[in-house]
Amino acid sequence: MKAAVYDGTDIIIKEVPKPILKDSQVLIKVKSVGICGTDLAILKGSLPTPTPLILGHEFTGEIIEVGKDVDQSLVGRRVTSEINSHIDKDCYFCERNMYTQCKSRKALGIDIDGALADYIAIEEYLIHEIPQEISYQEGTFIEPLAAAYQTFEMMPLDKDDKIMAIFGMGKLGLLILQVALLKGLKIIAINGSEKKLKLAKKFGAFHVINRLKTGDIVKIIKDITGGLGADIVIDTSGNPAALKDVISSCRTRGKLHMKSTHGLDTPINLTDIVVRELTVYSSRCGPFEKAIEGLKSGKIKIKDLISREYPLEKIKEAIASYEESRDHIKTIVTLE
Ligand SMILES: [Zn+2]
Repeated sequence: MKAAVYDGTDIIIKEVPKPILKDSQVLIKVKSVGICGTDLAILKGSLPTPTPLILGHEFTGEIIEVGKDVDQSLVGRRVTSEINSHIDKDCYFCERNMYTQCKSRKALGIDIDGALADYIAIEEYLIHEIPQEISYQEGTFIEPLAAAYQTFEMMPLDKDDKIMAIFGMGKLGLLILQVALLKGLKIIAINGSEKKLKLAKKFGAFHVINRLKTGDIVKIIKDITGGLGADIVIDTSGNPAALKDVISSCRTRGKLHMKSTHGLDTPINLTDIVVRELTVYSSRCGPFEKAIEGLKSGKIKIKDLISREYPLEKIKEAIASYEESRDHIKTIVTLE
């Protein structure tokens, strides 16, 4: 089968053996794969992985074969998959239902081969069926949307949490924005792309800030929050240089939430966090059921988030599309 393989320096399309199906697995014909900031971090060398590695972890496809221990009726189902396998099931974290932090976890497309290939074999317990209302392309948003929901699973809101500033209006920022609006928060969106800020406004942000056109983001946020700062500030920008403003624009005793996985060491002003008693949250993979429901119900809108679509053979162009324009949101690779 064909696969997009990262060899440690580059991503190349090559012929690799079709996966051998284990008794507990399903074999999936891959239909659509989303390219993600994590993939770019791997290719830039800032997120170390074993090599050679088939990339791709936001994907959908159709089950075409099942292992001996799996219900035969699953063949033909349209599915997506969680990315963290947790093989032992009895570690400290698994015993407490924190499967995504399992000590033996292996993440698809990061620790083990991913989905940028004709086929992928997946443990049955990781699979989620996609309802007909969600297309294969739209289904590639389930994993990042689950991560957006996870923001609020990890960070309970209280009565004083009213205004949230979101740094970064890429795919994740725009998904978190929509989930936050459903939670009743008012949103300030910060980005360098007018197009993305327009979209943030269309979704319901009450104030947008173009960081390239304004000198002092912190001052603007303070001005529109009665001098206090935002109750919650979330960083999805993937830009370590943004962190100074992220921290400074947070209200005293407010909440910071870290969402970027750029893999880079980042200096921060810890004293400002300590003196003003900020609480720091972080979160990553989340509840797929909520993400599927959000898409199915139409509460979360993603049509405007797909910027480009490429076939697998054009993986280099697909990756390059992220650097082409500030306005770019998401590229999807579609397989025949
Ligand atoms: Zn475990």
